[in-house]
Amino acid sequence: MVKQAENVKRNTFENLEPPDFVWKSGEFIPWDKATFHISMLGWSSINMVFEGIRAYYNENDDQVYVLHLNEHLNRLAESMKMMRMHPYIETEKLKEVILKLIRKNKYRADTYIMPLAYFGDGPPGFLPSGDRIGDMAITAKPIDSLLNSDNTLNVGVSSWRRISDDVMPPRIKSIANYQNGRYAAEEARINGYDQSLILNSRGKVAESTYTCVFMIKNKTLITPSVTSGILDSITRKSIIEISKNELGLNVEEREVDRTEFYVSDESFICGTGGEVQFIGKIDGYTIGKGTPGIISKEIQTLYHNLVRGLDHRYSHWRTPTY
Ligand code: PMP
Repeated sequence: MVKQAENVKRNTFENLEPPDFVWKSGEFIPWDKATFHISMLGWSSINMVFEGIRAYYNENDDQVYVLHLNEHLNRLAESMKMMRMHPYIETEKLKEVILKLIRKNKYRADTYIMPLAYFGDGPPGFLPSGDRIGDMAITAKPIDSLLNSDNTLNVGVSSWRRISDDVMPPRIKSIANYQNGRYAAEEARINGYDQSLILNSRGKVAESTYTCVFMIKNKTLITPSVTSGILDSITRKSIIEISKNELGLNVEEREVDRTEFYVSDESFICGTGGEVQFIGKIDGYTIGKGTPGIISKEIQTLYHNLVRGLDHRYSHWRTPTY
């Protein structure tokens, strides 16, 4: 395993260390100065869209590789478009700002980067207020990777349904959409599960909380289609790409029943934040042996080696920071 730089405290999503600097409205500013007025609370996040981006530290190269930077910024641009929000700065410049923010915080560690775009002034967020420029803020904080873990998740099918394209389009990565995932996450917590499997309005599997889902049956990798009520996940696309091209697996993107998951040979969740984590049980049904499946483990290892740049292929996935 690649060690973290020694002077960096390890962090989880529940416990993220504040950075020295953030970027807001065109400037790098100290963490303590990055404040909003209380009148911004409440309606303001209704129209906020964002991205969650990971960067991985490679000790041998002494390099922080930002994963899929272009793809995340393209998705952010699409979310803004659907929100009728004009970009604060163009994508190429935004790319530079993100890399500079990591350098300014002197990170030599795995990092989680969150650019937010929002209408910060003007009418309250519930009123139509689009066709103007959105403001922007970006944070970057060190975070642990889970990619060496064999932890298996105990998953329950949620009683909540996933939002749909005709109600709250899941394709838009908007903060408001996260209320849906949060209901499922809270339900999972109360019922003693680690994660939930969320069905869409048609009763088919959509995704897990904040992650996409895959199952393996007879050596075929199966995942709900992009029209199943999922966020069009960048990790999902990467997993499909390497599974087909490097592991020679058949891949099916289609409607999936919950019971297909119950009798799958292996299953796992994936996402930028969630990375690749194995599922051991769903609704009390043991998946395979209840331990990390052989193919899933192969996928996790290959994904880890690629994102950290230990495997030099797929260099277009990684943008060096320094
Ligand atoms: N679904 C939801 C609701 C998410 O928040 C995320 C995390 N961004 C994902 C799926 C996975 O998407 P990605 O692989 O692009 O991070």
